[in-house]
Amino acid sequence: MVSDHLAGHHVVVVDDDERLLALPPMTASVPPMTASVPPKSTVGSPRTTGETPAAWLAPHGAVRPPIAPARWWRRSSLVARFTVVSLPLILGVGLLAAQVVAAQLRSIALSVEAEAVADTVESRIEGMLRPEDLQRPLSTQRMAEIDSMVNERAMGADTVGVSLWRGDGVVNYSTDSSSVGRSGKSDDMLALALAGEPSKEIKPRSEVSLTLAKGTGDVMEVYVPLRLGGPKVVGSFETYRDLAEVQNRITAVRRAMFLALGGGLAVLFVALLFVVRGASRQLRRQSDELALFGARQEVTRLQTEFVGVVSHELRTPLTALVGFSELLLAEDVPDSDRREWTTLLHNGAQRLRHLVEQLLDVSRIDHARLELRRGPVSVAEATEQALHSIAALPHGLEISQRFEPDLPPVLADHEKLVQILTNLVSNAVKYSPDGGQITIDARRLGSRVRIEVTDQGLGLPRHELDSIFDRFHRVDDERRRTIEGTGLGLYITRQLVEMHGGTVTVHSLGKGHGSTFTVVLPATEEEPNNA
Ligand code: ADP
Repeated sequence: MVSDHLAGHHVVVVDDDERLLALPPMTASVPPMTASVPPKSTVGSPRTTGETPAAWLAPHGAVRPPIAPARWWRRSSLVARFTVVSLPLILGVGLLAAQVVAAQLRSIALSVEAEAVADTVESRIEGMLRPEDLQRPLSTQRMAEIDSMVNERAMGADTVGVSLWRGDGVVNYSTDSSSVGRSGKSDDMLALALAGEPSKEIKPRSEVSLTLAKGTGDVMEVYVPLRLGGPKVVGSFETYRDLAEVQNRITAVRRAMFLALGGGLAVLFVALLFVVRGASRQLRRQSDELALFGARQEVTRLQTEFVGVVSHELRTPLTALVGFSELLLAEDVPDSDRREWTTLLHNGAQRLRHLVEQLLDVSRIDHARLELRRGPVSVAEATEQALHSIAALPHGLEISQRFEPDLPPVLADHEKLVQILTNLVSNAVKYSPDGGQITIDARRLGSRVRIEVTDQGLGLPRHELDSIFDRFHRVDDERRRTIEGTGLGLYITRQLVEMHGGTVTVHSLGKGHGSTFTVVLPATEEEPNNA
């Protein structure tokens, strides 16, 4: 086992397999150009620090897709969505089709019925009539002859009345004798028939002007033009058909058609359901495969990033440690150099310690081992402690604070809030290489408190604003290349803020225009205990 003691402040213990075993509390300040330094409670106990970096990169920790607030629609399966969309559609289309087909059926059935009536008139009645029957009123004897002929040849199961119209539109004979002599001049159907066009009309029985023999259903009046062998229409034979029977037949056909259509659509729906279910399973399998593939790629990317960042962040301080310790071991080191080199040794060790602490923090976050001890915390006090950990400000940088009077405390874990603020302020310092003003502003926002850390430093391009909170994400440009860092500080910051039920966002007018990081946390009316 190897252990290093640095200036009595920090001890990082590493065993022969390079596993982190223990990290005692930190008491010293962070040198100016180091990134965020977590407070002592985030330093792991020997029990929790036994994870290797490889374990820390376990897929469940490395790839954790954000859970978007999904609506019911997006959460429901393809089959459920298909059912919701297609069932009403199929039912609607089915009902519409059934209505259209039923109306067509009725119209065809009635036409067939009317044609049958016309055939009967032509074949059985027309030959029995004489031209004078349609020219002048009938004699009593002729009336009786026609009546018996009609009863024998025309009246039947569905024929419930008959009228014989003269060419001048007057009833010359009717099964309802009171109708004889009635004029039908205003009857369009009669006019059509007298013009040579067979016509028909369906009426409720109550609207028929004739007293009919029997029956219950609607009535169809069929007018057949009579030519009696000549070229001209000389009259019309009107037949009243009771539609009860036809209606029954239509209803039966309609029922059969509804059943067939319903059955067909049900079979179609079930068949489509099977197709959709199969497609849905296949899609799910493919998306699982894609997710797995993406996860593997993400793990590989993170491993590469991890190795890159860690090896870089290890090499620089380790080189300093080895170099300056060798120099210090030389006998004749002047006191002034000894002091300077020891400080550099100290800074290198600090940087190593910071890296280890960040890795441990990420590990604890990923394994849900980070616990908050929440209570009322004064933002001013936490800011004061965060600023304490930033030892000396580089030349040309100033930090000012603007706290609203009567700012309520926030409900937070005191040490984590200090860690959040330290991360943001040390970043503002790090990424302001040309100096400028850093402002820490805090004000109440209803039941929350908003803390803003604004700098006038390097700023951020728009397309980086979301990704800088990702693990290992560092903005790569000329001016930042020499600034050390791991790309973990903001990831840890966001996780900590969100664990508090808060949010952290960034705003920047672009590269070279500074940045503002905004943290919003729940406020509390309780008084903070003096930590
Ligand atoms: P790092 O250790 O690289 O500083 P962070 O997670 O803290 O990691 O930050 C991620 C990246 O976001 C940094 O590499 C840096 O480019 C950018 N960044 C963070 N804070 C600021 C800031 N105040 N101004 C400009 N860029 C910043």
